[in-house]
Amino acid sequence: MAPVATANGNTHTPSIPETLKKVEVVKDQDVQADMDPSKLTIKLADKLKAIPEPETLVFGQVMTDHMLVMNFDAESGWSAPVIQPYQPLQLDPASSCFQYCTNVFEGMKAYVGPDGEPRLFRPELNMARLQTSVGRVALPPINPEALLVLLKKLVSIEKRWIPKLPGYSLYIRPTVIGTRAALGVAASTSSMLYVILCPTGPYFPSGVSGISLLAESESVRSWPGGTGGYKLGLNYAPCFAPQRIAAKLGYMQILWLLGEDRRITEAGAMNFFVVVKRDDGDLDVLTPPLDGTILPGITRASVLALCEAHSPATPLPGLSPDLKLHIHERTITMPEVVQLHQSGRLTEAFCVGTAVIVAGVSRIGFEGKEVKFSMGSDNQQYVTAALANRLEAIQEGRFEWQGWSVSCN
Ligand SMILES: *Cc1c(COP(=O)(O)O)cnc(C)c1O
Repeated sequence: MAPVATANGNTHTPSIPETLKKVEVVKDQDVQADMDPSKLTIKLADKLKAIPEPETLVFGQVMTDHMLVMNFDAESGWSAPVIQPYQPLQLDPASSCFQYCTNVFEGMKAYVGPDGEPRLFRPELNMARLQTSVGRVALPPINPEALLVLLKKLVSIEKRWIPKLPGYSLYIRPTVIGTRAALGVAASTSSMLYVILCPTGPYFPSGVSGISLLAESESVRSWPGGTGGYKLGLNYAPCFAPQRIAAKLGYMQILWLLGEDRRITEAGAMNFFVVVKRDDGDLDVLTPPLDGTILPGITRASVLALCEAHSPATPLPGLSPDLKLHIHERTITMPEVVQLHQSGRLTEAFCVGTAVIVAGVSRIGFEGKEVKFSMGSDNQQYVTAALANRLEAIQEGRFEWQGWSVSCN
């Protein structure tokens, strides 16, 4: 409740009688509807689009025929979900999302399994992360379980859009935006949730043998106490201008650094790993810790788990079963990377995320010099290739691993 100015200029918050408080809470719970998949209505498009040849696809440009939409308002709660033809949104120009960036999103993929049916990769983790993202910008909570049921339904309807080539999939973009139509700088009490889909192929053009990175410390992507650990739209816009400069200098992505010690946070919108040879012949696999400046990637968590599980019983493809991979979530600075490279112990660097899956790094530009990585005979690196092969096999349902790949049916 807003403070009220008194005659002498002091402000005070009027107290609410206990009984009234109780009435308010009970009313909300009674009236606000939860997200309810049983109320789904489906309005199919009259005319379906022609599906482009997979080879011509550019990431995120062609959308499928349908989208899932629902709205939340404080009075009535979640509206009945609708799957409807893909179409523009109609929003009040004062909407919170346009004025104060109450925009959050997720990125997931659907793959065709060997049975021809669509599969998702650890989707419950995306739903949980979406919940933490909406919470960070004080948007109304979602219902992760209900949303997953609806999302599977949408993917099933759109399954003809999933390209059947290896390395191709259907990218899924769940989005929540604040729709409060008022300019007061305050949380949005209403929101719209929608899910759109686009067929996608390999993220980087074929023939690229690794990603080039420019280590950048002048502008930072995230900072302690900031929002880098959440998938909020507002984290990405400030990266576009530095990204454009990096591209002009011939680098594909920026390696984001933070602080005087120039510690590595992430590469572009991907989590970053390095592989270091140890004195005992084993390998250390390092990635920065989730200290709030790093997006907690689902691919990152999966890569750590797969490295940890590498053993004679469950070896990664192409790696010696006796080789030990020691995982470390710890700070890595750019000067340390340079020094490890000079000592010959830095063998690989790679980037991970839903869009790229696992992509090797070919070179890192830093203070006018370059850290270069040598590629194997197949233009791939050792641990990088093993992880990419295994993850893709799990995602495409060709290799069963701990229930990570989930059917949409
Ligand atoms: C989405 C994202 C990632 C990767 O997360 P995944 O869950 O693996 O897709 C990494 N960094 C940033 C900044 C991201 O937005």
